Amino acid sequence: MSEFNRFFKSKTLASTYKPTLAKCLLDLGDYKQDEGSQWVKKDGNNFTVDLNFVAARFLRYYWPLLFKFKLKQEATKTPIVVYRILKEYEKEIGVKSIPSKKLLCSEKFSEMRKKTIQGGIKHMVLPRLLNDCKIYTINKSSNSIVLKKEVIDYMKNNKKILEAALNHMIAEYLEKINSSPNISTKLEEKIPRTTLKKDKFAKIITLQNSCCFYCEKKGQSFAQEHFIPWNFIFDTQSFNIVAACKSCNSSKHDRLPNSKYLEKLLKRNDNLENLPYGYSHEFMKNLYESCRLGYHGIEQKLWKV
Ligand SMILES: [Zn+2]
Repeated sequence: MSEFNRFFKSKTLASTYKPTLAKCLLDLGDYKQDEGSQWVKKDGNNFTVDLNFVAARFLRYYWPLLFKFKLKQEATKTPIVVYRILKEYEKEIGVKSIPSKKLLCSEKFSEMRKKTIQGGIKHMVLPRLLNDCKIYTINKSSNSIVLKKEVIDYMKNNKKILEAALNHMIAEYLEKINSSPNISTKLEEKIPRTTLKKDKFAKIITLQNSCCFYCEKKGQSFAQEHFIPWNFIFDTQSFNIVAACKSCNSSKHDRLPNSKYLEKLLKRNDNLENLPYGYSHEFMKNLYESCRLGYHGIEQKLWKV
């Protein structure tokens, strides 16, 4: 399908909108009945797709970038339209766990989808993607687009590779404006291993003299606590894992600890074996600072016991 190749070769991304829209369309080859099938009508070789189908997915894909990973979409302070819409409906949609496509296709979110269609998809994103990737025609009079069966079949048969290529485009764009690590893994939405192996963790507990890293109380059982929050670092390595008591672990949650603990962690890590190549105090301090600026927020209070 040469239209996709043309799009992947284009180097003109001004935002993540175009590849994200293409990601939404990929779903047309592979989706469940309760994920918006009422919006897809087949007529011979043509599929007419109501933009509600696209809007629900658009919101779904931006949700983790905003609420979970807190990634900026632009270098300026003004948030993009879809972020503003998500923020507006923050209460209804929730910020703790990822909303399903089914939920976003439900009646409850019809107004939110409508705003997404009118506020961005219909007039901005659809015409722009069409310039680079002519795989649909726009129905001006209604909120829908038309795709040929061949296009949908192609997307169905190549979903994985097309999705990976689109995620790569999005990650490349986001990496320019965010210092957050592992952005491409974050986009894949499959969760990497989140705990250290038992023997490695046991060494950490010994290094801490069986005391909680934060409150220093002696203990029997400890939680593996990501010093720099998991949703920012998205990786599990000894140098960022501390043994914490249950109470400190739940109180800290995904906040960044006060800098006095960073000094303590650097000292503790000096005694760790098998630190990865590239680890240094400088590296750890930079990571901490990037997290403070890009994830935690400078105006937010740093956590302490
Ligand atoms: Zn504690």
